[in-house]
Amino acid sequence: MNEYDSDKMSDVLLACAGMELTDKPEEADIILFNTCSIREKAEEKVFSDLGRARVLKQKNPGLLIGVGGCVASQEGDAIIKRAPYVDVVFGPQTLHRLPQLIEARRASGKPQVDISFPEIEKFDHVPATQTTHGTAYVSIIEGCSKYCTYCVVPFTRGEELSRPFADVMREVESLTAQGVGEITLLGQNVNAYRGETEDGDTVDFAFLLRAVAAHPGVQRLRFSTSHPCEMSQRLIDLYATTPKLASHLHLPVQSGSDRVLAAMKRGYTALEYKSIVRKLRAVRPNISITSDFIVGFPGETEADFEATMKLVEEVGFDDSFTYIFSARPGTPAAEMADDTPDEIKLARLHRLQARIAELEQQVSAAMSGSVQRVLVENISRKSELELAGRTENNRVVNFAGSPGMLGRYVDVRILSGSMHTLRGELVVQP
Ligand code: SAM
Ligand code: SF4
Repeated sequence: MNEYDSDKMSDVLLACAGMELTDKPEEADIILFNTCSIREKAEEKVFSDLGRARVLKQKNPGLLIGVGGCVASQEGDAIIKRAPYVDVVFGPQTLHRLPQLIEARRASGKPQVDISFPEIEKFDHVPATQTTHGTAYVSIIEGCSKYCTYCVVPFTRGEELSRPFADVMREVESLTAQGVGEITLLGQNVNAYRGETEDGDTVDFAFLLRAVAAHPGVQRLRFSTSHPCEMSQRLIDLYATTPKLASHLHLPVQSGSDRVLAAMKRGYTALEYKSIVRKLRAVRPNISITSDFIVGFPGETEADFEATMKLVEEVGFDDSFTYIFSARPGTPAAEMADDTPDEIKLARLHRLQARIAELEQQVSAAMSGSVQRVLVENISRKSELELAGRTENNRVVNFAGSPGMLGRYVDVRILSGSMHTLRGELVVQP
């Protein structure tokens, strides 16, 4: 989501006369930080990065420094108080106002702060994505209304707001016209999508998916992230009828303990989660399931953690994200009693990570010898003749090929694989 927002920031500014991207900070007239506040560590990083930009500003007083994203949304004016050399503070829902904010900063000489949540205005003001890659993100829903007890997202990004159906389809049309074959629909909970049509009806996520998949230019379709509570049967059934849907689903579970899941206010039990996975595998046996886990949630006991380990065995997760609980100011979980020592939390994290890494390795090893349809994404940095592509289950494969294949789908036989990167060879069509 943040990558998508960063691209939109540069799209908005590139559309203004005179702006261009540079990867040399010392040459920049404007430096923007897109920030994350999901965990404390990510948040603290912003201020150390800002310190480095300050040094550049001392050398070049005309340099403007902006802070966007969720830290900006949470802290607002406090950023200017702590770092008075910052010129512009904007939130995830006001990034389209960057040109006006920069203009106002220049005209008034005063720092500008806008962290409001103006309805869906953002989509009407960001230019259409221009891309030369074969793959692109399309944001379909902003914000989140689930209010899991540990999470800041509903506070920093606002409540769920779906993008109108026709608007999404127009972006898909524009991307496929540029040669994009792979689309990833994006949102905190994409399956909460309830988009309005031009006739004033409301359509759900399954409807949208079917419509996007039916577009002849779309060759492969992904979406991220889904909430287990909204994995409707209609959505699961699409895996049976829609071959364009990639055989990979990121479905965050967080914990295998019902007690912890209830304290997190996730709205499902471990059994309900397993039942979703069983139904998905009934229609798509080879589907790769990845997830997010939080260990050390306040009050998590050894038995709770064992329940998570048991769920990992039962489901057989592929590559997943694992985090130690981080108390976020203003969230209910930050007030809950937490008496688990940090060393125990860390030991649990390592145990979980080690088991998931083994499972991931097993999946990679089992792919050896198979032929995978791969979207060619990059030329390898090492050699012009080496390409890197992505499989359906989100693994990078390196193989020999020509740069003309960039952005296209090719068949690659997997020769060997370690964890996340595989080696392969092109399957030459007879
Ligand atoms: N909307 C998605 C969902 O419901 O799963 C993902 C949202 S969040 C940006 C990504 C992941 O960060 C979550 O799934 C969760 O595992 C983790 N996370 C969120 N808040 C956290 C916290 N306070 N401490 C540790 N991890 C957290
Ligand atoms: Fe945060 Fe995801 Fe829960 Fe929303 S559903 S509150 S984004 S973890």
